[in-house]
Amino acid sequence: MTSSVNVAKFGGTSVATFQTMCSCADVVLANPNTKVAVVSASAGVTNHLVKLASTPLTQAQISETVAEIEKIQTNILEQLKHPGNVAEKLFDLLAEVATLAAHEEINFRDDVKDSLMSMGERMSSLLFAEVLKEKGASAVNFDVRKVLRTDDTFTNAAPDVPAIKELVQSLLVPEIEDNIVVTQGFVGADTQGRTTTLGRGGSDFTAALLAEALGAQTCEIWTDVIGVYTTDPRITEQARPLPELSFEEAAEMATFGAKVLHPATMEPALRQNIKVFVGSSREPEKGGTWIVRDCEHEPAYRAITRRKEQVMVTVKTPKMMYAQGFLQRVFAIIAKHKLSVDLVTTSEISVSFTLDNPPNTVSEKINKATLAELTTICDVSVETGFDVVTVVGNNMHSGAGVSSKIFSAISDFNLRMICFGANPHNLSFVVSALDSEDIVKVLHKALFE
Ligand code: ASP
Ligand code: MG
Repeated sequence: MTSSVNVAKFGGTSVATFQTMCSCADVVLANPNTKVAVVSASAGVTNHLVKLASTPLTQAQISETVAEIEKIQTNILEQLKHPGNVAEKLFDLLAEVATLAAHEEINFRDDVKDSLMSMGERMSSLLFAEVLKEKGASAVNFDVRKVLRTDDTFTNAAPDVPAIKELVQSLLVPEIEDNIVVTQGFVGADTQGRTTTLGRGGSDFTAALLAEALGAQTCEIWTDVIGVYTTDPRITEQARPLPELSFEEAAEMATFGAKVLHPATMEPALRQNIKVFVGSSREPEKGGTWIVRDCEHEPAYRAITRRKEQVMVTVKTPKMMYAQGFLQRVFAIIAKHKLSVDLVTTSEISVSFTLDNPPNTVSEKINKATLAELTTICDVSVETGFDVVTVVGNNMHSGAGVSSKIFSAISDFNLRMICFGANPHNLSFVVSALDSEDIVKVLHKALFE
């Protein structure tokens, strides 16, 4: 019965206002298979919540920020035909925001942070369910914490896939018999019922996890762009939307900087062979990108991505002391801090790798702790000011002339590090942040125009 189910996820800009929520409701109602709608927080809300959770603020600043959030949500509330249906619940949630924001230890306790961070999705889902009801649908707002079981790594929790499957089958499946279920992306709960979150951008991941647990056939990610592009259209006007992509290509693109999908989204889709669609809720008629297991075409070059704010870390064994087992020790430390390293090169006595390092983020903190621990076993040097540019495609290792075409296009630029991926779908360069935009442009021209 659940085989033709579709899960539709709506991003922050799609549920930003009453008007954009109405377009989303039309998208839901246009597809009778859509039984579950997963929503992000209304655009801007999560950023305000991050500010409240992670910066020491004065009482006045807290009130101001809470008022900003309130304005975004009440603007939507006021345009409902019958705001009275949800007003009380919304004001309760806003009161909870204010209470959590004023919590003495909000800046220090990740569990409290997550309770606060979850409020955005809890408010947007309440409002979106009501918009659907006003359009005549039988919609319910479902608390995702009942089914989205995670570990207790607050702010970056990992899903417990088998538990989610069981909970979804017993608690969510009965709900979709006669209702469209609206639920929260990004949010989960641990075994003790404590609220967790999946990390920024995690709502896509939620949608894919629920689709997997439901045995859904499709998962739609509705956002503000008409699909996945050959490269970021803000870098070159020549960028164009891709009609199709493979799971592997999409995973590489997400990992290497394409902002369209959360990198983990492809994992459930791949396990369950769920077709993933990316399109614009504002212009659904323009179509979008289908991400599937077997593409009709497997071109050598599919897309170019850029990941900004990378640091390059080089660790060296002093006098080759630890030459034996050195790599293992380095990676044990990296693994202990739960850092994921995407690009690595090694030589006899040194290893270089790149880390994501946007300022004032969790990763910046983790990086510091990791580097401090690395210095206890080796010499560590850190260079900043890099971006990673990645060409995603097929048979990048073996296709005749595939890489030479890339290298000759960018021969004028200084490449600090070159990496063929461990799979045949990517070729990456670490380059100066000052050159990366030009490199993307030149590559796009050579490969796609
Ligand atoms: N609201 C969360 C964020 O902005 C999760 C999401 O939208 O995917 O990161
Ligand atoms: Mg998002």
